[in-house]
Amino acid sequence: MNETDVVIIGAGHNGLTCAAYLAMAGLKVTVVERRKVLGGAAVTEEFHPGFRNSVAAYTVSLLNPKIIADLKLAEHGLKIVERRAQNFLPGAEGKYLLTGEGRTLASIASLSRLDAEVFPRFSQRLEAIADVLRAFVLRAPPNLVESFGGGAIREGFNALASANILRQLSLEQSRDLLDLFTRSAGEMLDEWFESDLVKALFGFDAIVGNYASPYAAGSAYVMLHHAFGEVNGKKGVWGHAIGGMGAITQAIARAAREHGAEIKLEAGVREIIVERDRATGVVLENGETLRAKYIASGVNPKLLYTRLVPAQALPNAFLARISNWRNASGTFRMNVALTAPPSFTALPGDGDHLTAGIILAPGLAYMDRAYSDARAHGWSREPVVEVLIPSTLDATLAPQGQHVASLFCQHVAPVLPDGQSWDVRREEVADLMIATVDKCAPGFADSVIARQILSPLDLEREFGLLGGDIFHGALSLNQLFSARPMLGHADYRGPLKGLYHCGSGAHPGGGVTGAPGHNAARVILGDHRALFAGRG
Ligand SMILES: Cc1cc2nc3c(=O)[nH]c(=O)nc-3n(C[C@H](O)[C@H](O)[C@H](O)COP(=O)(O)OP(=O)(O)OC[C@H]3O[C@@H](n4cnc5c(N)ncnc54)[C@H](O)[C@@H]3O)c2cc1C
Repeated sequence: MNETDVVIIGAGHNGLTCAAYLAMAGLKVTVVERRKVLGGAAVTEEFHPGFRNSVAAYTVSLLNPKIIADLKLAEHGLKIVERRAQNFLPGAEGKYLLTGEGRTLASIASLSRLDAEVFPRFSQRLEAIADVLRAFVLRAPPNLVESFGGGAIREGFNALASANILRQLSLEQSRDLLDLFTRSAGEMLDEWFESDLVKALFGFDAIVGNYASPYAAGSAYVMLHHAFGEVNGKKGVWGHAIGGMGAITQAIARAAREHGAEIKLEAGVREIIVERDRATGVVLENGETLRAKYIASGVNPKLLYTRLVPAQALPNAFLARISNWRNASGTFRMNVALTAPPSFTALPGDGDHLTAGIILAPGLAYMDRAYSDARAHGWSREPVVEVLIPSTLDATLAPQGQHVASLFCQHVAPVLPDGQSWDVRREEVADLMIATVDKCAPGFADSVIARQILSPLDLEREFGLLGGDIFHGALSLNQLFSARPMLGHADYRGPLKGLYHCGSGAHPGGGVTGAPGHNAARVILGDHRALFAGRG
């Protein structure tokens, strides 16, 4: 039997971040990962001889700058570059929107003068609220505690500090904050803009990984969630990690290992050992047992509590609630190997737009229909597809002159209606996604020489992303901040002593941020120091 200070379940980027901070503080850490490759959803793999790509997550912005600096990720080989254009949205009749430094306003003006006038004000107001979110990212949200004691006093101070951050908002900004947390993105965008493509630019962020219409209440928060990132100090910008998203997790793993953390691959956890209401170790799928003072889980909270923790060890009410944790993304993910870059009818040939996130969804009504269609039919017959061609920025991914593209496709139902299986429908839906790109860029389908397909079921089987949920649980108001993963457990501590949450199912939620891993490490270290101070 092995004994260590901390066992971390899952070598996703959050588990690894947590491991790195704890190892830096001198704890003995073992990370156990079910897959044979580390990185979870932030991973690069070769999917066709000579062609590599980010398998799941495909673009970077949310990764926190403090974490990049603390873990010295640049020294560990991480290089993030900006796209030469941010987004490209082809529309009908040769119209398009192309955003990025120095070009957004002129492009918007070509679609609508009015939108070009209000755009700076809208961006400013969104940015002000994104700043507030940034201030909350690396701190535990206020946690509800029932009894009066040390925990209540600590949470009282935490609530005061949080209120202090919110106090910096003017009354008007507080109203914006309320809107962004509760309203639909669609309604707000209709109030501000008239051009369908401009609305689609923001509307897309509201449905990324969110199985909902842009007109669903709460979708404005998902839009905001995608706005709090930055690349190399530039706020709201999206970029590319050279070598793909796996370069991020490889760099974090190097930082963790440098400080002594051990990472075991093909070491899935079968069960958490619970003794007298305390998690004391894990049993691996191969029967090996690891004992530890602290267990930190980087997997989806529903997976943790309904599959790994013995049911009898949990309070009934907790188990009932976490069993209803909502996982739903409506996401279908493909990687394709291409003999040539696509040429779009709206803007033919080569150019900076090929380095952008290319959003194929010409308006909010289109996105709304995509959702309704997926609800009724299992997948949208006119899907929303974001195309990213990272090989336009990174020569390490494909043979010279050839390319790889990520297709992030929505909406599809996490579970198909009428008992149909994603295993039977996967190829047909993949054909549809390629045909959708081909409609805007004729010849695309013929340039595809290989494809990797991940249906929601594949995402669940391969990465443990239940229901294919890319965020480890929907970013709905009842599953955010103090309620992530549940009221009373927003402090990264689960209902069992010694068991912590360090994955995207904890605040601030999904995306390649590193924040849940960072925040959980801080709590574990605090508990560890308190324990030893008590003994001393
Ligand atoms: C298709 C897709 C596209 C996305 N695109 C982006 C994007 O472009 N940009 C962005 O910022 N975010 C994106 N995201 C979201 C982001 O990738 C995730 O929210 C984030 O990577 C989750 O990180 P994590 O460390 O919390 O968990 P994960 O990366 O899910 O890691 C959890 C790990 O636990 C392991 N595991 C599961 N069960 C066990 C077990 N029993 N024992 C041991 N290990 C186990 C899994 O194998 C996995 O490695 C995307 C996600 C997906 C799926």
